[in-house]
Amino acid sequence: MNSQTSDTIHTDLTIIGSGMTGMAAALFAVNRGISTTLIGQHSAMNFASGLMDLMGVHPSGREWDDPWKALDQVRKDLPDHPLAKVGNPDIENAMGEILGFLNDQALPYHRAAHKNVNVITSVGTVKKTYTVSETMWNGVVALEKKSPTLLVDLDGMKLFSARQIASSLKERWPDLRHQTIEFPGAETLEELHPEHVARSLDLSANRVKLANRIKPFIKDAAYIGFPALLGMYRSREAVAELEQLLERPVFEIPTPPVSVPGIRLQETFISGLGKNPLFRTLSTMVTRVKTGAGFTITTGGSNTPATIRSKAVLLATGRFLGKGLVASRQGIQESLLDLPVMQPETREEWHREDLFSPQGHPVNRAGIRTDKSFRPLGRASEEPVKNLYVAGSILAGSDWMRMKCGSAVAIATAFAAIKAIEKANK
Ligand SMILES: Cc1cc2nc3c(=O)[nH]c(=O)nc-3n(C[C@H](O)[C@H](O)[C@H](O)COP(=O)(O)OP(=O)(O)OC[C@H]3O[C@@H](n4cnc5c(N)ncnc54)[C@H](O)[C@@H]3O)c2cc1C
Repeated sequence: MNSQTSDTIHTDLTIIGSGMTGMAAALFAVNRGISTTLIGQHSAMNFASGLMDLMGVHPSGREWDDPWKALDQVRKDLPDHPLAKVGNPDIENAMGEILGFLNDQALPYHRAAHKNVNVITSVGTVKKTYTVSETMWNGVVALEKKSPTLLVDLDGMKLFSARQIASSLKERWPDLRHQTIEFPGAETLEELHPEHVARSLDLSANRVKLANRIKPFIKDAAYIGFPALLGMYRSREAVAELEQLLERPVFEIPTPPVSVPGIRLQETFISGLGKNPLFRTLSTMVTRVKTGAGFTITTGGSNTPATIRSKAVLLATGRFLGKGLVASRQGIQESLLDLPVMQPETREEWHREDLFSPQGHPVNRAGIRTDKSFRPLGRASEEPVKNLYVAGSILAGSDWMRMKCGSAVAIATAFAAIKAIEKANK
């Protein structure tokens, strides 16, 4: 159990960073009886699409239907890839534990047996992913069957155009139509914010008004697709009621950030974890980590206890967006502990000349190198710091965006690190 004296928290494990990696690690830790303090500002997942990728592309741009075969290939070709350090059974168990938790918290995800599924993106491309929220699943089915489908977008919503999606997919999905609708009550607004629309669709009366505006345009459509903003806290209920009102299956399409499915994931993690007495979270930034007999962690917030005493630390601070890594003229640094960063020798080597090179850009593989237990490798002759672990996108070698493996890198490396922490502290 976490304990607290006047301004000091005592905990078995401190996780720094509350993106997908930190949240997943916290779940794995408390499920294994480890008292856990998660520190980080709870907004990193607002960007994430809400899709969970396992492994979609490797190598040189080849797309894989079977993510498990893709992972086997990665182990042969890219032994430095973080997922090459975790076996398929552990990756499967890690994904299963997360999906089980989300299901129990009423945010179910769907996947196909042993294969990737195709989803349409907000720019009208088709992307391979491993698992999608239940609210997106009908879109996977409609795309596979190429069923007559109406895509709806909302007047005033930026960066999501049903017209663009339908036009980009014209060859592949000829029976895709589009229609822009004025969101009820927002007729005079110049810009619609996805979070506001999502919250308003938590209310049944607003769903009824929206459905009434869409009905005249349905015609032969067998499915109706929307940007992913059908409810914030009641998305299942919103989709079910819209399906009833519109008399056909409905689905959501991921949007660019700010992403409502990302917010749903984040809030679900925090509220679900909050039910476990072993879990505590501080929405602040860590400013200092002192090693010695255990760790002394200092935070920057004024409303929270300033000091945490912890037996183990898991660093899950992300890459450049999360500021776990910082780039300067001198190169790439790790921001909190000054851990050595694997990176190209010079800045000139960060990017290839071809922006769309199928091999990707070397800078996207920069990061922290670890041993098989996800303990960071020190500089030559330095001993690894006892009980310090690293997981997630900050790790060297993942290039997650190009290889479509972001959530798997986060979840599977968090799982492996927590297993190692559990073993080391038995
Ligand atoms: C635009 C976008 C689209 C995405 N789309 C997909 C997708 O389609 N499929 C998929 O599988 N995944 C997707 N993802 C999610 C992606 O997989 C995850 O972001 C990735 O797994 C990285 O997670 P992370 O937790 O390692 O890092 P981050 O998400 O970057 O989180 C790191 C956190 O650490 C915090 N931090 C940094 N320094 C400190 C400090 N000193 N003290 C406290 N906290 C600190 C940061 O503030 C941040 O909150 C997407 C992400 C983004 C950004």
